[in-house]
Amino acid sequence: MVLGRGSKLDPCQFQNLNSLPENLFLAKYIVEDVKTIHEDSVLVIENTNIKKIIKKSQLKPAELEKIEDLGEVILMPGLTNAHSHVALNSVKGLGYGKASALYDVMWGVEPSLDEISVYKLSLLGIIDAVRSGTTSINDHYFFADSVAKAASQIGVRGFLGHTVMTEYGPWTGQEEIKKAKKFVDDWKSSKIIHPVIAPHETSTVSPKVLVELHKFATDSNIPMHIHLAQTIKEMDYIKEKYKTSPIKHAASLGILDKRVIAAHCKVVESGDLEILAESDCFPILCPTTHGLSGKPMDTNFLTENNVEWGIGTDCSGGNDDYDMLEEMRAAMLINNTHSRGNLITPKKVFDISTRLNIMRLSLNKMNGTLTKGQPADFISVKINNSRMQPLHDVVNNLVMCASSREVKDVFINGKEVLRNDEIVAIDEEKAVFEGTVAINKIFKDAGFSGRIKSGEFA
Ligand SMILES: [Zn+2]
Repeated sequence: MVLGRGSKLDPCQFQNLNSLPENLFLAKYIVEDVKTIHEDSVLVIENTNIKKIIKKSQLKPAELEKIEDLGEVILMPGLTNAHSHVALNSVKGLGYGKASALYDVMWGVEPSLDEISVYKLSLLGIIDAVRSGTTSINDHYFFADSVAKAASQIGVRGFLGHTVMTEYGPWTGQEEIKKAKKFVDDWKSSKIIHPVIAPHETSTVSPKVLVELHKFATDSNIPMHIHLAQTIKEMDYIKEKYKTSPIKHAASLGILDKRVIAAHCKVVESGDLEILAESDCFPILCPTTHGLSGKPMDTNFLTENNVEWGIGTDCSGGNDDYDMLEEMRAAMLINNTHSRGNLITPKKVFDISTRLNIMRLSLNKMNGTLTKGQPADFISVKINNSRMQPLHDVVNNLVMCASSREVKDVFINGKEVLRNDEIVAIDEEKAVFEGTVAINKIFKDAGFSGRIKSGEFA
């Protein structure tokens, strides 16, 4: 599909992918959950859901005929990215963790975005996510409607929110709050788009609007996705204005609870992590971004205090890709660099990325395992290669060895999204071309082309 800048997106273009009725997939290994691995078994899918996992030897002759043998692969639950901005990939390679990446590069580009460019940039980010085994994203961005259309067109599950800012943002004011609420109404009956409410951050959203949006999330029984304690600038601003820290400020407003997905939680002062632990909100580690910034979320403290925490990629400026396989391994690296013991293991990281992330995002409606009745969101990972052999421990190899190169198939809600390394629903080459053209236009409009040429970001 070719969309010119300024043309309108038509929701009718975003049809469902081909549905699979009953399908049986044979694989060398099937990871039902982090503790349960089946060998030489068959995963049976009925329409959009998991029906069962059964030994091949127990199938009836008629069922044996229906098997698709996927060969030397691991079938496993898909990965959930608990914090992303899939359309924010235009500044790749320009930020690499510098403090100015957010305020200069990203915020400099964003006023030039529009409905069409966010759609095209979202396609790029989602393709990257799918190719690295991601089946669900928790995304926070302007023009969320365009992100939702890109996600539903490719077939990825999206927990999506329209970013609301009341200060500093490219778009502020009542109109944005209305758009955020309308987005929830418009997409709430979708099977794979799960709308959330998404205030940007404590220093960019007024206390009144934070409370209003949290109440809307509570009344609608949906998550609230927010950045919290992300930067020193946020800490300084909240200190100056409210004489407290971002986490204490949010807690005093009564907006921290179990439905809150709080990205970062890393610029903290004494007592903040204890408040976070009490609140039951879901703090998100973004390993690459946190590593590049030199200040990671304290997963050791949270784990020692039995606090559930999630993993996400964030976006370019701090990460530059949407690869959750990379993030799982980076989570090990970040933790061990700041370790007070071997609290975090590959199995814990795998369990978070497959099960816990989606359980918290779906408010316990999905559990991210390949068990009966769960949505058929799963991937296949090739094992007959130099990267994955020797294979002594299936889950440990998935975390410590696998890369996006080994991801062969992705199914979401029982539908084919990536088959034999090919994106099913769209022409990938065309999407990359159109996305790049859109970025070049944005950079020209924002005055960044000249600054890049001058070597300012080298
Ligand atoms: Zn973010």
